[in-house]
Amino acid sequence: MTLEFRCEHVGVTDCKAATTADSKDELLAKVAAHAKDVHGVELNDTLINYALTTVTEK
Ligand SMILES: [Zn+2]
Repeated sequence: MTLEFRCEHVGVTDCKAATTADSKDELLAKVAAHAKDVHGVELNDTLINYALTTVTEK
């Protein structure tokens, strides 16, 4: 199982990055790093919960 998160699914339509990982914890760590490095955003619980609702399984 691979989990995938895309910024465009949470409304960041100008970011085409796709983050994938094998577990939710790993995915969240990668998404948090991406959000901070690329978008200058620190994820809080609200953002994390919202992001998780958009994660797809492949
Ligand atoms: Zn992004």
